[in-house]
Amino acid sequence: GHEIRTPMNVILGMSHLGLSANPDPQQRNYLTKIHGAAKNLLGIINDILDFSKIEAGEMTLETIPFSLAEVLVDIETSVQTLLAGKPVVGFRLTLPDIPGELMGDPLRIRQVLLNLVNNAIKFTEAGYVDLSCRIREEREQEYVLEFSVADTGIGIPEDAMHRLFTSFQQVDGSTTRKYGGTGLGLAISKQFVRLMGGEITVNSALGKGTSFV
Ligand code: ATP
Ligand code: MG
Repeated sequence: GHEIRTPMNVILGMSHLGLSANPDPQQRNYLTKIHGAAKNLLGIINDILDFSKIEAGEMTLETIPFSLAEVLVDIETSVQTLLAGKPVVGFRLTLPDIPGELMGDPLRIRQVLLNLVNNAIKFTEAGYVDLSCRIREEREQEYVLEFSVADTGIGIPEDAMHRLFTSFQQVDGSTTRKYGGTGLGLAISKQFVRLMGGEITVNSALGKGTSFV
């Protein structure tokens, strides 16, 4: 994947440098658009690379010590910028009471939760987005954790539910036009959760909201 990301990083880096080189307003407008589109494209490329790696059975997770609270608070921080454009959407975070560090793959946990939270915010115009984590089971050397991302957004029609976790699938064609995205987020999330020994389920009421557990 390295050889695909290199040119993207050049575009990102050079447009960034251009922006700090005192451009006139029209040039600033061009550079801002190049930088934004490049960032977007890098996100899509990263998703496609992850997805192909999973499909090829080559995706492995890390097992390193990490603080779950740090991961969740970090997500809360990055959510603030997304919510800046949505003044009537609130965000709530519920943390489990876990002392010390866990072993696992904090980057992939973050990636799954961020995709779910990004979706929730994308498809919610008013109300709240709720991210919570609780201990479902406590074994000798192990916690079974349950994460939930709930929103009060547009909901998902019953007949679209079965396609949600399939790659490149969105509820309907108008989703892409209106909200963007490639339809890879949930397919990738499902596989990461599976690699962590868990599963992901969805509940939704059209027009009322959606929750992923
Ligand atoms: P990407 O994640 O690749 O940028 P995406 O967000 O469209 O694109 P997924 O995250 O896989 O793709 O979601 C697939 C589709 O499921 C979305 O396009 C949307 O139609 C529907 N969906 C997902 N989450 C929600 C939600 N919280 N509320 C309503 N619809 C949702
Ligand atoms: Mg998504």
